[in-house]
Amino acid sequence: MKTLNQSDKKYLLDLIRDVKDFPKPGIIFKDITTLLSNAKAYNFLIDHLAQRYNNLDIDFIAGIEARGFIFGAALASKIGKSFVPIRKPGKLPYTTISEKYSFEYGIDEVEMHIDAFKCKKDRPKVLLIDDLIATGGTATAAVNLINKVGAECIEACFVLNLTFLQGDKEIKKTTNVYSVLEID
Ligand code: AMP
Repeated sequence: MKTLNQSDKKYLLDLIRDVKDFPKPGIIFKDITTLLSNAKAYNFLIDHLAQRYNNLDIDFIAGIEARGFIFGAALASKIGKSFVPIRKPGKLPYTTISEKYSFEYGIDEVEMHIDAFKCKKDRPKVLLIDDLIATGGTATAAVNLINKVGAECIEACFVLNLTFLQGDKEIKKTTNVYSVLEID
């Protein structure tokens, strides 16, 4: 499946801003708003994801709150798939299931509607999307949620992988991993 060449990767990477000591001292926050505000770059990224996933057997795209919504919803709309939000606790109105996890700067929980993947198939196929892999805790919890309700997470997709934290190794225990960009 298609991956980006080095010069396209550099083009996108140069548009992601580093913000030091946010939200805690010692964290270098990867700010994707500077990429999103560049229409050409945002479109280029979504087009790349569409090329990668267009012909794959996927029933749903699940995005992790909040930045996973920005890429997941745009991709779902572009390739004609259903979108499912995986959210922070207390945000979803109907019956939910949840999973606790630890991540790069704290402990949190993700929630999903119990009937989020209702469709005619027994075991619908789901593509998971978020902006970034740090320790891999958030995405692993999201994959567990997807599996708990009887769906199958076929791949977890990220814009950026902080490879030095080795979070991808954790997620690979549960599903395939694709990241558009890497920072070593
Ligand atoms: P983790 O569970 O440790 O892989 O953390 C990934 C989640 O936390 C993603 O939803 C990211 O948006 C967010 N996150 C963690 N570390 C950073 C960082 N350095 N810069 C931006 N977002 C981050």
